[in-house]
Amino acid sequence: MKYILVTGGVISGIGKGIIASSIGTILKSCGLRVTAIKIDPYINIDAGTFSPYEHVVPHITDAVQEWVMNQAKVPVDDDRKEPQICVIELGGTIGDIEGMPFVEAFRQFQFKAKRENFCNIHVSLVPQPNATGEQKTKPTQNSVRALRGLGLSPDLIVCRSAKPIEMAVKEKISMFCHVEPEQVIFIHDVSSTYRVPILLEEQGIIKYFKQRLNLPIDDQPSDLLMKWKKMADRYERLLKVCSIALVGKYTKLSDCYASVFKALEHSALAINHKLDLMYIDSTELERSTEAENSVKYHQAWHKLCKADGILVPGGFGIRGTEGKLQAISWARTKKKPFLGVCLGMQLAVVEFARNCLNWKDANSTEFDPDTKNPVVIDMPEHNPGDMGGTMRLGKRRTVFKTQNSVLRKLYGDAMFVEERHRHRYEVNPELTHCFEEKGLKFVGHDTEGNRMEIIELENHPYFVGVQFHPEFSSRPMKPSPAYLGLLLAATGTLNAYLQRGCKLSPSDSYSDLSDDSSPEKEFPNSETS
Ligand code: GLN
Repeated sequence: MKYILVTGGVISGIGKGIIASSIGTILKSCGLRVTAIKIDPYINIDAGTFSPYEHVVPHITDAVQEWVMNQAKVPVDDDRKEPQICVIELGGTIGDIEGMPFVEAFRQFQFKAKRENFCNIHVSLVPQPNATGEQKTKPTQNSVRALRGLGLSPDLIVCRSAKPIEMAVKEKISMFCHVEPEQVIFIHDVSSTYRVPILLEEQGIIKYFKQRLNLPIDDQPSDLLMKWKKMADRYERLLKVCSIALVGKYTKLSDCYASVFKALEHSALAINHKLDLMYIDSTELERSTEAENSVKYHQAWHKLCKADGILVPGGFGIRGTEGKLQAISWARTKKKPFLGVCLGMQLAVVEFARNCLNWKDANSTEFDPDTKNPVVIDMPEHNPGDMGGTMRLGKRRTVFKTQNSVLRKLYGDAMFVEERHRHRYEVNPELTHCFEEKGLKFVGHDTEGNRMEIIELENHPYFVGVQFHPEFSSRPMKPSPAYLGLLLAATGTLNAYLQRGCKLSPSDSYSDLSDDSSPEKEFPNSETS
């Protein structure tokens, strides 16, 4: 097959169709079999039902705008009030093909929202190549130009750099990117991400937003930012260390476990410990690795054995599951604090079935659809053979079944918790009694009582599995209770914490860092904004 692509430039309607069909005619007259395709690059639900007036309005841009406006209104704080500001991060880089409809949506949206209600922050990079040691502004200039070309103008240009940026560079960016110097903000690499809000504030960002978005706020930062500063200082002064082994599959790309890492760090910080996170590739704990590379195998086991606590995170697919089961077995039998998240919980159930119930071929149907002991099974929603759009997703309620639950206590003796989900398989509800008789308790389930959400093992310092992902709701000043429990147990302080009624010890006290913000501000005329 030969292909001839006819493209147009500058304006549409210059006769591409005529040229294309004429070429076809000529080639046909040469005795060739010719076909033709006309591509209309609409991104629409049904382009065939358009009115001719609508032909440049792709549905996707309207859909994006509508979705943003609806989503922005959803309450996210405990007070359940509608938010006043929505910060939108558009992933990727300006110019990426997949981002184009979204950039265009926001180009339109800026007019719909009106100037005082919409602004754009463009984050860029200022590299400093070793050859000259000079901080280079060209990539920023180019990316701002690309952004402007797509119809968005940056209100603030945030320049990331390895070292603090010099004043002359700021002036250059201001001049060549056509913004005032105060619209150029510098964020160099800092000791912890907790320093970033402070750097932003130091460069006058509050004053800028106040004016630009007409916000009813003071120029001065609230106490909350002071607390951030204290937290950032604390982070740098940590003396005691707590090590956690994260037994996963994607350990070469640690960013895959960013939320888990952050949740662990929030908890470690809350109890005044530095987190020593050791990534272990679960396949390296498997017997097959011992045969191929015994050094790797023993190193992996060495890391696992010396860790104060073990975490098996979420995951998909069979590779590495045997190694995770080994790690879980170790945690259970050696009474090492353990937290299993999603797949981590499912595998803890499999491990228990194999080694405590003696169901040797117990498995999840995800890994062995023909197992005689399917202890983790497909959920009814799951559509076999189709991986798209079939997960049980999002925030859902888990009800505690008993008061005798360490996690319930950690959650402040709550009757229920709401956490985020992302799974296709579930613990087989018909078999739970077999586990409970031997000490593995299912202490939390969904509102209907069918789906097992939390496991806890009796007579163990901390052996907890959760079907949900508590890491997604962990915050620097409000660590996730499930993760905090792991860190407390790993540092031998869990019981004391529970006895104090879930309060940190006075020396670790975090009360001065609690998450309450400054008094609430209402917009003067919220109807029009
Ligand atoms: N693969 C498992 C499932 O689909 C676990 C998913 C996860 O860990 N997020 O249920």
